[in-house]
Amino acid sequence: MARPLNRIFMFVLIIFLAALVAGFIYIWPRLESSPPEISLDKPIKYLGRQQRVYVKISDQGQGLAWVRVTMEQGGKRGVIINQEFDTPGAPLASLKLMVKPLQLGMNQGPAILVVEAADRSWRGWMKGNRSRREFKVQVDTAPPRLNSLTQVVRINRGGAGLALYSVDEPEARHGVRVGKKFFLGVAPWPDRPNTKLCYFAYGDDLAKGQKIELWAMDLAGNEATASLNTRLRWKRFKSDKINLSQNVLKRIAARFGGIMPKNRTTPLAQFMWVNQDLRRDNHQIIEEAARQSQPYQLWRKTFSRPLGAPKAGYGDQRTYFYKGKVVSKGVHLGTDTAHTERSPVKAAARGIVRFAANLGIYGNCVILSHGQGLATLYGHLSSMTVKLGDEVQRGQDVGRSGATGLALGDHLHFSVLVQGVFVNPTEWWDSHWVRDNVLLRFKEGGLPLPLPPGEAQPGS
Ligand SMILES: [Zn+2]
Repeated sequence: MARPLNRIFMFVLIIFLAALVAGFIYIWPRLESSPPEISLDKPIKYLGRQQRVYVKISDQGQGLAWVRVTMEQGGKRGVIINQEFDTPGAPLASLKLMVKPLQLGMNQGPAILVVEAADRSWRGWMKGNRSRREFKVQVDTAPPRLNSLTQVVRINRGGAGLALYSVDEPEARHGVRVGKKFFLGVAPWPDRPNTKLCYFAYGDDLAKGQKIELWAMDLAGNEATASLNTRLRWKRFKSDKINLSQNVLKRIAARFGGIMPKNRTTPLAQFMWVNQDLRRDNHQIIEEAARQSQPYQLWRKTFSRPLGAPKAGYGDQRTYFYKGKVVSKGVHLGTDTAHTERSPVKAAARGIVRFAANLGIYGNCVILSHGQGLATLYGHLSSMTVKLGDEVQRGQDVGRSGATGLALGDHLHFSVLVQGVFVNPTEWWDSHWVRDNVLLRFKEGGLPLPLPPGEAQPGS
């Protein structure tokens, strides 16, 4: 009689054990102990008026149950996001938050950004594994104070201008905006870190009426603009007709044979490639080289003028004709002068060599940086006597004139650039212009020349 009972007992036992194993298999992973991991895409030090913050929270085991991001400051607490997840938990939450400290009731000063999360583990009496990370931030919603230190800045079309201004946050980025173009300013007076300087340009290709203003942005992303009182003088540029003969086209094409694209087969098509495509590429390289600069003024005197008779000026609007038809247009962005063949070419001012190599239409070309974004270029040289990184003094030879690149006769092409923008060189070798637009501006502001640290001021 014990047999059926025994069988029932065995049956119940197996069911029980199976349930136990199944329960164990079900419960064990739900008791995992790996907490969610919290990270920011980049460290945050400052929070401005509104700041995008990317928070990533991931969980290896049962997934996330909830996440919460808050801001705390002196007992006050503002909730930025509080999100719950359904079962099964989310393995990952990428939160793109827009944090607005003022709306969260925070004030200027230190605060803590708190990120908390819990997973769907059954640990801690079903509360899950919790993570909490705190990020110390500085709430700064005040834009930097930005003031012009110059009454009026006069600027010519295609010319340069100097802005002196103050920014009360030493780590702010600042400069001058001319239309869409931004010129980065420097702080060259170590004992006056808030006093800034920026050379800017009104490019030859800009239409009338571009807005010129001072701009600054602090590390919290607060922006400030201030008007810069400028008077633009509109200059007309000369027009210049250039007739291209078959012979000239062939000579030019032959010079660039090595780099000519195969699909340019006629001498005219080859010339157009040189004058347009190659010119554009060359200008990109020039801009990059000319932008490399340091915050001090290396030059002291007015720039020296290149030797020789002027052949073409800055801003000349060149129209190229072939067999009586207009085939190409271009603007001449420097001054051409011719002297005797292979004349020594001298540095217009003290500077650092930022480029000394063959550069397409400019042939053998030297670019000097004079500090604060100011640079000069010497093109078509037959030989160069300086190398990258050299420091050269005003009047020192950089090479000899020649006809390399897109030049037919021996001459020097000389350009001046402000942060990569070509400007009219004549301003820089005109002692009146330099005095009125640069030196007097420093004097008015009670500022010494912004020379490299340790260098004596002239006359002292
Ligand atoms: Zn030229």
